[in-house]
Amino acid sequence: MDVHEYQAKELLARFNVPVPAGGLAYSPEQAAYRARELGGDAWVIKAQVHAGGRGKAGGVKLCRDRHEVWQAADGMLGHTLVTNQTGPAGKGVYRLLVEAGQNIARELYLGFVLDREHERIVIVGSDQGGMEIEEIARQHPESMHRRLVDPSVGLPAFQARDLAFALGFRGGEIAQAIKVIQGAYRAFRDLDATMVEINPLVVTQEGNVLVLDCKMQVDDNALYRRPEVADMRDRSQEDPRETHAVDRGLSYVGLDGQIGCIVNGAGLAMATLDMIKLAGGEPANFLDIGGGATPERVAEAFQLVRQDGEVKAILVNIFAGINRCDWVAQGIVQAVEQTGLDLPLVVRLSGTHVEEGRRILADSGLAITTAATLKEAAQKAVAALDGQSAAHTEVPA
Ligand code: ADP
Ligand code: MG
Repeated sequence: MDVHEYQAKELLARFNVPVPAGGLAYSPEQAAYRARELGGDAWVIKAQVHAGGRGKAGGVKLCRDRHEVWQAADGMLGHTLVTNQTGPAGKGVYRLLVEAGQNIARELYLGFVLDREHERIVIVGSDQGGMEIEEIARQHPESMHRRLVDPSVGLPAFQARDLAFALGFRGGEIAQAIKVIQGAYRAFRDLDATMVEINPLVVTQEGNVLVLDCKMQVDDNALYRRPEVADMRDRSQEDPRETHAVDRGLSYVGLDGQIGCIVNGAGLAMATLDMIKLAGGEPANFLDIGGGATPERVAEAFQLVRQDGEVKAILVNIFAGINRCDWVAQGIVQAVEQTGLDLPLVVRLSGTHVEEGRRILADSGLAITTAATLKEAAQKAVAALDGQSAAHTEVPA
């Protein structure tokens, strides 16, 4: 799950990481009020969307008086912001962060991610902040410093200091940089984050080290034990297809192909995608409907897969361990009857009560193609697609 910049800063501040003074606004009036509350003579209005690249897209505006603040807020709220990270549809802007404008002397980059190969949290720093990490890696690879953190030790001050030196911090900045590096590391670890990206981390002309922007992602599977983070979810920023799935306990990831997949178990779902590819097809989605594939869940899954207009055939692959194939088959028949499915449907059932399940499908009188193995199912789904496109392309003379 992603959180907004203002939420990420709020979370970092709990770990003593310095962030600029700021406040949230839902209207231009409130934005102007926030500016007055903050005082000073420069404010930055920042669109809160789950995407970066806002600066270049008009989602970050420096304002010199409260009238400018009002106008900048009015220009952003209720509009859609398209950045190089939002996709062409963009993201709706419903919240703004009004922040005290800083006099920036230097911009740096500081990122925390999981290094799966080393099974460690890795810190990546660069003194070339402000641009995207991919860009830094291309243009200034020599500026990038990586540090693996040993989880049994945590991040000791000497390791943070070593990184601070490598990033060019000097004098009074060093103690502040260590505070940021250690605080952000603890936030990552203690909040079950999967990514914390501070870009830019800045040194102001007054010599203060501050987090000017932060992106944070937290592990969905840990939200149950982080209710204060779970509360930060903002549905307005999510892909509606994925939100629909998550709310029903289904794991769905949209892909670009034409074969819709309904599978129970993440491993089986991955194997199904592989087999479709081997058979020469392209899957339209990853979908794990979970262990208890009740008729209701199967019906939900059909609706979800059918929402994708690109889907031209559906492959159902269920292994019933705790579950029972006859229940799943009933669910499939119900779902097909309810939704009036007009797409080729290939079903492979395996496991408990499989004969009974197959008999229910056969007796239903519905146009369901069955398969005994996953390989056969994938081949039949691809063949069904080819049959369709052949039918479409055979224009009579
Ligand atoms: P994004 O990464 O989405 O473009 P940022 O928050 O990084 O958004 O803002 C883009 C740029 O705007 C920053 O690199 C920085 O130069 C400037 N900026 C952001 N916040 C402030 C601020 N509070 N004061 C001064 N400049 C800022
Ligand atoms: Mg940024």
